[in-house]
Order: sequence, then structure tokens, then C-alpha cells
Amino acid sequence: MTDASDATEVKSEIHGVPLPPDSLHSHNLEEQLKETVERYELLAKATNDVVYDLDIANATVTWNDALFTQYGYRQSEEVSSLEWWVSRIHPDDAFRVQEEVSALLNTKQETWFSEYRFQKADRDYVYVRDRAFVQRDAQGQIKRIIGSFLDITQQKQLDRTKDEFLSLVSHQLRTPLTVIRMFSDMLSTGRAGKLSALQKHYAHQISDASVRMIALVGDILNISRLELDRITIAPVATDVNKLIATHIEEVVPLAAAKGAIISFSPTLDVSYVSIDPTVFGQVIHNLLTNAVRYSPVSTGRIVVRFVRDGHSFLLSVHDNGIGIPAKARAHIFERFYRADNAVDFDGAGTGLGLYLVKLIVDACEGKIWVKSNAPQGTVFYVRLPGKGMQARKAGSATTPL
Ligand code: ADP
Repeated sequence: MTDASDATEVKSEIHGVPLPPDSLHSHNLEEQLKETVERYELLAKATNDVVYDLDIANATVTWNDALFTQYGYRQSEEVSSLEWWVSRIHPDDAFRVQEEVSALLNTKQETWFSEYRFQKADRDYVYVRDRAFVQRDAQGQIKRIIGSFLDITQQKQLDRTKDEFLSLVSHQLRTPLTVIRMFSDMLSTGRAGKLSALQKHYAHQISDASVRMIALVGDILNISRLELDRITIAPVATDVNKLIATHIEEVVPLAAAKGAIISFSPTLDVSYVSIDPTVFGQVIHNLLTNAVRYSPVSTGRIVVRFVRDGHSFLLSVHDNGIGIPAKARAHIFERFYRADNAVDFDGAGTGLGLYLVKLIVDACEGKIWVKSNAPQGTVFYVRLPGKGMQARKAGSATTPL
């Protein structure tokens, strides 16, 4: 009886792939096993990815044909040692990759992802994206790393072109916009001579529009940087209460023009938190300008809080504005999304602010969410880890953004 149930156990799957129930009674098990193995072999042949199986104890590697067909190595070459593989990784990347793999030894991590330069047989390097599954024994020790890598050199080149385009946009578009703003301000304030009321009004309009354009270009640049994983987070001990107060001061003229009042009472149990003030400042600024934008004329009340909440920090921005209808709430963090009530209330938005904020908060390992009692009032919450923000270098995402 024991034997029979053991046999059923063995037959119920091959390489972790469950067999259909009727196959349990099949006499062709060997045939099926052969077919499954053949299928895997064909799959390994069909893909352009290099598929590898690294045996940790013996430091040996088994490769599929793609290593030979895609990277030019000869079948006769001795490629089965770990040493051979490591010697093919670009010297500037080898140390980092080796550190990443060593770090796996001390964790229970089951997957690994990295990008590095790999040398082809003609000695040229290509960028590869490597994803692997880490197989461990019952004690958690790594037995095998099974993975695949793909040549992403073209994608990297495209990213570089996008980078160049970004810096071009940044300089070529922002500089003239700033000049337009400066001169229109000179006109509207009378510093360049007396203007009629109508002329002043037009100069004001030009200045306002250029301010919106500068902000829009800034948002697009920031989003592109985040999407291209070009964001650097450099946390420093920051007086958060002061940072928030500074950002409120910046928004006060906008709020005053609308008759809205912003209040903020610094909490005493929070002083210095390890954050990147520029990055977090963008979050605060966007939430504040939205709260002002969507608050009612003359009676807007905005309350900002930053408190310690258990093992984390919680920023909240509460307004008594138009609220967010229930069906729109799931979409407000999407790029270009604007709820209908927002479009009717203020035509000037772009639908980019919250998308940017969400990208930033995600990159900081934080959380953002919203509560709203439409048709009145909205609260945005941002939770930051208790240890503050994690330092991060551009291009260090562990998964593609
Ligand atoms: P926008 O430029 O339209 O404000 P955002 O990305 O900042 O773009 O916000 C996306 C949408 O979320 C807005 O169009 C609006 O529908 C909604 N929203 C954001 N903040 C608020 C708020 N404080 N009150 C009401 N609706 C809001």
C-alpha cells in the first residue's frame, strides 16, 4: 500500500509539471517523460535567451545552444566552469555581480535579477539582462541557480538616446520659457514702462501660461527620469517640519489668490528624518497644489500633518475641495488621468502630478493612498518607512521600472 501511494506521488508530476489525471494510470509513463524532456530541450533551443544551470557545489555550468548560436562560442570550447563565466563578465561589472550573488547566500531569496556586460566570442561586450531562480536544499543552502539572460544592448542604446533627448529638452525648452516668464513679468509689473490695464492683463496671461509650461516640462522630465530609472535618492537627516513649512510658504500666494487657508502644526515627536528633501519636496508640493487647485473659492481649508505612526511616518494632506468620485479613485495615479469633476472645475490640469508622486513614493519604498467623501473633501496619505528613505543610485532598480 505504501509502495503504491509512493508510486502515485512520483507519477503525479514531472519536473514539477503536473500530469493530467488519466496519465497516472498510463502505461506510457516513460514515453511521456521522454516527450517532456524533449519539449524542454526544444524550448531551450527555440529561445534566443541563453539558458544556464549553475551547480553551486561543483561550480559547473550547463548552457543551452544560444550561448553558441547567439554569442559565437564554439561547442568545442571549455565553457562549463563558473570561472569561465566570470571571466566573460566585464571587469567593471564583475565585482558588483559577484557581490550580488554572494548576498544571495545570506538570504532566503528565490529569485535574482541583474544587468551586466557579457563578452562575446569576438571579444565585444553586450549588455545582458539576467533573471534566475535560486534552488535551495531543506537547510536553505543554495544548490543550483537556473536562469536565462538576454542581449539588451539595443534597448540600452535607446535609453541613452532618450537620456540625450531629455537633457536637450531640459535646456532648450526650459531656458526660453524662463526668459518669456522673466520679460512678461517685467512688462506686467511696469518695470519696462507704463502699460494700459488691458496690456498688463495680457502680460499677466503670458506669465501665467509660461509658469504652467515650465511646471509641465519639469513634470515630464521628472517622469521620464523615473521611468528610465535615472532617479537618485540621497537621504540626509532633514528637519521635515521645516521642509513642509517651506513648501507651504511657496504655495501660500496661490492659496491666497483663491482665499484658501493652509494650516500645519509641526508634531514634536518628529524632528530629523532621513529623507531626500528634493524628492520628498516634490511629493509635498504636488499634493499641496492639488489641494489648493480643487478647493472651493474663498472657503478652502487645507490641513497638513506629518506624524510618527507605529514604525513609520505618515504625511497627510486634507482638503475640503470637490472630492474624488468613487469610480475615479482607482485611476487617479494613472498617467494623464483626470476625473470629470476635476476637468469641469479647473481645465488647467495635466493629469501628470499624481502619476509622478506615485512613481517617487514607490521608488522610496513608501505607500500612497487616498480617501475621499465626494462631493466634498479629500485626504491623501503618504507612508514612509520608519528608517526613512533608502539611498538609491540611478540605474539601480532591481526590477525594470
Ligand atoms: P491634475 O493636473 O489634473 O491635478 P494630478 O495627476 O495631480 O493631475 O491629479 C489627477 C486627478 O486626481 C485630478 O485630475 C483630479 O481628478 C484628482 N485629484 C487629485 N488631487 C485632488 C484633490 N485634492 N481633490 C480632488 N481631486 C483631486
